[in-house]
Amino acid sequence: MSYDFDLFVIGAGSGGIATARRAAEYGAKVGIAEFDRLGGTCVNRGCVPKKLMVYASHFPKDFQAASGYGWTVGESKFNWKTMITAVNNEVDRLNSIYQRMLDKSEVTVYEGYGKFIDSHTIAIGDEKVTAEKILIAVGGKPVKPDDIPGIEHAITSREIFHLQEQPKQIVIIGGGYIGVEFACILNGLGSEVTLVIRSDKVLRGFEEDIRMEIQEAMQGNGIRILTNKPNIAIEKTNTGLQLKIAGREEEEEILVADAVSLAATGRSPRIENLGLENTNVEVVNGAVAIDKYNQTTEEHIYAVGDCTAKVELTPVAIKEGRAFADTHFGGQSKQMAYDNIPTAVFTTPEAATVGLTEAEAREKYGNAVKIYRSKFRPMYYTLPDMQVKTLMKLVVDGNTNKVVGAHMVGDSAAEIIQGIAIAVKMGATKADFDATVAVHPSSAEEFVTMR
Ligand code: NDP
Repeated sequence: MSYDFDLFVIGAGSGGIATARRAAEYGAKVGIAEFDRLGGTCVNRGCVPKKLMVYASHFPKDFQAASGYGWTVGESKFNWKTMITAVNNEVDRLNSIYQRMLDKSEVTVYEGYGKFIDSHTIAIGDEKVTAEKILIAVGGKPVKPDDIPGIEHAITSREIFHLQEQPKQIVIIGGGYIGVEFACILNGLGSEVTLVIRSDKVLRGFEEDIRMEIQEAMQGNGIRILTNKPNIAIEKTNTGLQLKIAGREEEEEILVADAVSLAATGRSPRIENLGLENTNVEVVNGAVAIDKYNQTTEEHIYAVGDCTAKVELTPVAIKEGRAFADTHFGGQSKQMAYDNIPTAVFTTPEAATVGLTEAEAREKYGNAVKIYRSKFRPMYYTLPDMQVKTLMKLVVDGNTNKVVGAHMVGDSAAEIIQGIAIAVKMGATKADFDATVAVHPSSAEEFVTMR
């Protein structure tokens, strides 16, 4: 049977675009459908605009540091509209780059929602296309918990990039990646921020030292963090929003947000209107079920990225997609390796991590685990006499001397851990770290001098 395409990709986010282009490079005839803007969550309402806003939020700290170096900084003033416009202009620029890249790769772009009619046929509006292989790369969407009364009044990370006014007071619900990152961004930009979490610490799943360090630093920067508050109710009033917050057995506290409360309470796959019922693709716990080759339960249909709810990170979706394209169109056999995935949280200060936490390592290697830890004030903060600290931690399996985890809180943590991650992925030992000559003076050198 002949098909219109060798590969048809549903969803032109990071995973979908990377896969389409890689397959096309190998000579496959590829089509892609996208009903929204090219680039998906990461480019349009995630990593990219978020990181630009993180940069914007750092200036007050830099102005403060400047005075320690002899600079007199004039009156500084922040204009939210200018920043939001500049951020969105950059997103527009990236959209057009994506279009050009897909055109150059000769991938046919369909503007519209791709929906399965049968397992080889996709409808995009009135048009129908057939494909030998199909990749589902539709990503995810923010979840608003329905156990929070009034949650419909809260916005999500989708809307925050388009707010026309800066929130003066904002209450953020959820202490995962998005909650803590936006708490720090808005705090840096001058909003009054309260973060409400239902456990005792932010960033569940991260190294305990990192969680503690970030939480204390956020509080030190003026963010109010309400811990152990599982009971939340939101009400709209004439003057804004009112949030009733309570612990398990405590009196409720009433918070006021001028207009906005941000629900940063996780994301879920966006697969409800895909027509999966017209295929044999199995959905488990709301996500597309896949095997280690990203194959679904229908032999020629594959899935990558957030719609599989495996690891919700852009570079993971890209790697999964490229492994699929290399395997099916490039004559190689590749699968995504999920061990030692580095990740960063763009809080102030930044956190980044690769490998096992101390607790995970102790569970795996018991008493053989060795911990190396260093906390210090980086040189940059000495002249302005600012009490900003950097924390670094190595987790080592004492049986083999291998570094099985590296964690950092501090300036440039993401940049530094990216390099360390190569060593950890390659199985470097603590002796290999020690044998590496330090780059001096730097913060990163601490990773090769810890005793
Ligand atoms: P996360 O899963 O990281 O965190 C969700 C937070 O919401 C947790 O603190 C969770 O609490 C809390 N929560 C969940 N349900 C409720 C509820 N019913 N009531 C109160 N609190 C609740 O989700 P995010 O939305 O922050 O981010 C989604 C994903 O996006 C991340 O997992 C990450 O993979 C990705 N991302 C990555 C970034 C990066 O790489 N820098 C940046 C932004 C997003 P608890 O911990 O108690 O469960």
